[in-house]
Amino acid sequence: MSLTRTELFVDGHWRKSSDGSTFEVVNPANGARLQAVSDATAEDVRDACQAAASAFAAYRKTTVKERTAILHKIRDLLLESKKEIGEILCLENGKPLAEAEGEVGFAASFFDWFGAECRRAYGQHIPPPAGDRQLVTVKQPCGVAAIITPWNFPIGMLARKTAAALAAGCSVVIKPAEDTPLTALAFAAVCERAGLPRGLVNVVPCSRGRVAELGRLLCAEPLVRLLSFTGSTAVGRLLYRDCADAVKRIHLELGGNAPFVVFDSAPLELTVRGALAAKFRNTGQTCVSTNRLFVQAGIYDRFVEALAEGMKKTLQVGDGMVAGNNQGPLINKRQLEKVQALVADAMAHGAQVVMGGRQPPQGGLFYEPTLLTSVSRQMRLYTEEIFGPVVAVYKFSTEEEVIQMANDTNMGLAGYFYTSDYQQSWRVAMALDYGLVGVNEALISTCEAPFGGFKHSGFGKEGGQQGLDDFMETKYICFGGLKL
Ligand code: NAP
Repeated sequence: MSLTRTELFVDGHWRKSSDGSTFEVVNPANGARLQAVSDATAEDVRDACQAAASAFAAYRKTTVKERTAILHKIRDLLLESKKEIGEILCLENGKPLAEAEGEVGFAASFFDWFGAECRRAYGQHIPPPAGDRQLVTVKQPCGVAAIITPWNFPIGMLARKTAAALAAGCSVVIKPAEDTPLTALAFAAVCERAGLPRGLVNVVPCSRGRVAELGRLLCAEPLVRLLSFTGSTAVGRLLYRDCADAVKRIHLELGGNAPFVVFDSAPLELTVRGALAAKFRNTGQTCVSTNRLFVQAGIYDRFVEALAEGMKKTLQVGDGMVAGNNQGPLINKRQLEKVQALVADAMAHGAQVVMGGRQPPQGGLFYEPTLLTSVSRQMRLYTEEIFGPVVAVYKFSTEEEVIQMANDTNMGLAGYFYTSDYQQSWRVAMALDYGLVGVNEALISTCEAPFGGFKHSGFGKEGGQQGLDDFMETKYICFGGLKL
């Protein structure tokens, strides 16, 4: 049976929204209508929270062995359905099919990891200050977790949060992005197939017109104990404020403005490969995408030439369902217009277009891979997240200067640098004010390591050993009156 679903998944059942409304999902590669999806109302979201709270009452008592079995079942089903979910993802998000299938594998890796990691949610025995006491801490699931995810990794971000939540013993209410609800609903279908208890996982897509109301509801709803959000800093800030009123825990994975630094000693071929990967995955629409490429004067000309060559040779714009294409469309008109405006602003301030800088002949939501030089701090793309296939190259002279420039942003998610100088590798890694640093490596996100930003890029960690913590409370218990 196919995993395509268009209704809300609440309390283990597929249902239409309470007012019967729907919204359209389109393929960004060609504008074709894919499905009409039920548009959740406040009533539906309240029902989902209630269902999650009821499921939590029983699920919190499961043993870690039982949770491991549930998570690993989901992992297996995701891997078995990689092709089908990859297609759904490619169609609604526009990323190339191979990348989409890779993302399903990435999602499965979090169920693999947290399925094992839940067995290590250790507490502590604390040496007591008095002889008649024993002091311990235990970790407990925090309760119902609300999860809000973006369109750029429709299953990767959802899985990184949901796997940790289920491993911790929490139940979840997931609100996916308007542009990519079908992948989240396919995930719900996988959970149903895995035989999850009713209400443990609920998925309530909604249209952009309703999202602010439903976001406020999730922040205010007393049944929800934690909000885990991935998306823009602007929306994260709103949710943070709303959670403050309810004194609710919040975890924020927000935007980035990644520097990619090329030092004179950098190995050219490896560095160009890294720059292409860090910039052009998902057509530049990733939070850890290179936003500012700083190149040292001694290697500058050779590097820019090799990068342009690499872009010409390896990047192929077109519908992600067609083999060979690796640069899909931008997700929507708003995103395309933002990229166009950033490039226009850079050109107006003196940027040179080495390649691209416009839409390719197929038009639509496609944009040519673009290489800009002579960029400067005055341009909007120095401070704003480009989120498109545009590389902006800056020239620098000294290590001190580039560290200052790299950290000259209120974002702090990912940063990269390439060097052959061993001493410099540790020095610069320590100086970069970022939650994730890649040294001679551009693809650094993996289930085994903690992922999360500094400053306006948010707080909290996903993945790694730390990923469970956000979904757990530490309780201190003092046993007194003991006759030892
Ligand atoms: P976004 O506009 O903030 O949307 C993210 C999610 O929040 C979507 O589900 C969106 O729903 C929802 N949303 C929008 N307004 C809301 C509101 N008032 N209340 C509650 N929810 C609301 O971000 P985006 O454009 O989809 O995603 C791109 C951003 O995410 C970039 O800044 C990127 O860097 C960041 N990101 C960060 C990470 C990380 O791990 N740090 C990973 C991936 C992406 P709608 O779709 O209906 O608007």
